[in-house]
Amino acid sequence: MEKLTELTALELGAAIKKGEVSIEEATRAALEAVEQREGELNCFITRTGEQALERARALQAGVKETSSPLYGVPMAIKDNICTKGVKTSCASKILGDFKPPYEATAAERMERAGCVSLGKLNMDEFAMGSTTETSFYGPTHNPWDTGRVPGGSSGGAAAAVAGRECWYALGSDTGGSIRQPASYCGVTGIKPTYGTVSRYGLIAYASSLDQIGPLARSAADCAAVLDALMGKDPRDGTSLDVPAGGLLASLTGDVRGMKIGLPADCFGEGLDPEVRRAMLEAADVLKSRGAQLVEFDFPVMEYMVPTYYIIAAAEASSNLSRFDGVKYGWRAEGYEDLTDLYCKTRTQGFGAEVKRRILLGTFVLSSGYYDAYYKKALQAKGLIKAAFDDAFGRCDLMLTPVAPTTAPKLGESLSDPLQMYLSDIDTVSVNLAGLPGLSMPCGFDKGGMPIGAQLIGPALGEAAVLNAAHAFQMDTDWHKRSPYEKEVF
Ligand code: GLN
Repeated sequence: MEKLTELTALELGAAIKKGEVSIEEATRAALEAVEQREGELNCFITRTGEQALERARALQAGVKETSSPLYGVPMAIKDNICTKGVKTSCASKILGDFKPPYEATAAERMERAGCVSLGKLNMDEFAMGSTTETSFYGPTHNPWDTGRVPGGSSGGAAAAVAGRECWYALGSDTGGSIRQPASYCGVTGIKPTYGTVSRYGLIAYASSLDQIGPLARSAADCAAVLDALMGKDPRDGTSLDVPAGGLLASLTGDVRGMKIGLPADCFGEGLDPEVRRAMLEAADVLKSRGAQLVEFDFPVMEYMVPTYYIIAAAEASSNLSRFDGVKYGWRAEGYEDLTDLYCKTRTQGFGAEVKRRILLGTFVLSSGYYDAYYKKALQAKGLIKAAFDDAFGRCDLMLTPVAPTTAPKLGESLSDPLQMYLSDIDTVSVNLAGLPGLSMPCGFDKGGMPIGAQLIGPALGEAAVLNAAHAFQMDTDWHKRSPYEKEVF
């Protein structure tokens, strides 16, 4: 058998089911990789290895009865998803060693599917960032080149999956935080349609945009995780009552007659030529399987970044008001009165990027500026949605870059936040319109860094998105490349 840590989650699940490998063996293999690589990668904020081994032993007895294809497969969870009794920090000093008294629905559902959690993953503080450098716990490094960022904000999740420390991970995506790190690290990740996965227990950044989703080794792995995650949750008022499950079973790889849209405005100025080349080659792979390529203009691209950053910051400024040193986590010392307690706790507890967003959000919501910024952004959001509706009148799925470049070097991005925001241009639109978006590996640049292609579907079009990605992965092996098996490179 191939090296355990190089298998996909489904391959490992099948080997566990057949009794070729025990859950404890799989867990030990992951923990060994974690032990070996964490020094240079820093994917985890909290490791729960002992609990994982106990859980692995307890699960073994149920192997024969289970119908879950992911039963016993070790994974890990982004640190903004609440886990009962296990520190959940959002990579912020302000949450201190906050241990939630409850479990997020997403974590609970994966548990029901038989997951073994290895711990909590590093991220940008409160999921604000594109590089995982704003974490209070230090940056995560990209397994393909440890001098480069893994992307963000789910950088710990992407690097852990790419770094063979776990088989899949739960991330969250408000404006690209699953897809962009997946692209930078050469793994597959999907942000599902808004409302399909419960946000109960996901610490809010921008509630109207946040969604939980998987990062894994293949589109099929992602489908299996989504089958377990999706579905109505009465504890989340925005959760949709749509039939869940069946995604994995629906993967045929048949894309004959499917219209794949290439929006010209996503391929224009600012796009790295190597990324462009990889995108066009990816489109050709789908074409060779019988899909039809259609090109059209998509002139709303210029509104994406400003609209997103106004709405996300506005919601963040409101959501983060609850962190005041009274109810949760960390509290500053040496305060004089209640106002001083709030002020010192928030000044010392939040990092620079989070404060920048709170200030921006408070500004765009303040009377006098509300109409000029926030209301305008909501109107632009309407236009963006309409542009997608129009696009999906011409095609079944859209294919675009995930990011204009491959992973930048550590330390290059934070000095110019505006530039960093601009690099989110290809992902934020999908959240503004509430659509499913997937990132799949489709090549490498000359420096050996992974490139990702994005597939965007209409609302609730997860099956089509995953099927097209699966088709692509039947004919390519980019998703199978490993930073530790470079001979396959
Ligand atoms: N980079 C984007 C931001 O900083 C997206 C983050 C996310 O999806 N959580 O807002």
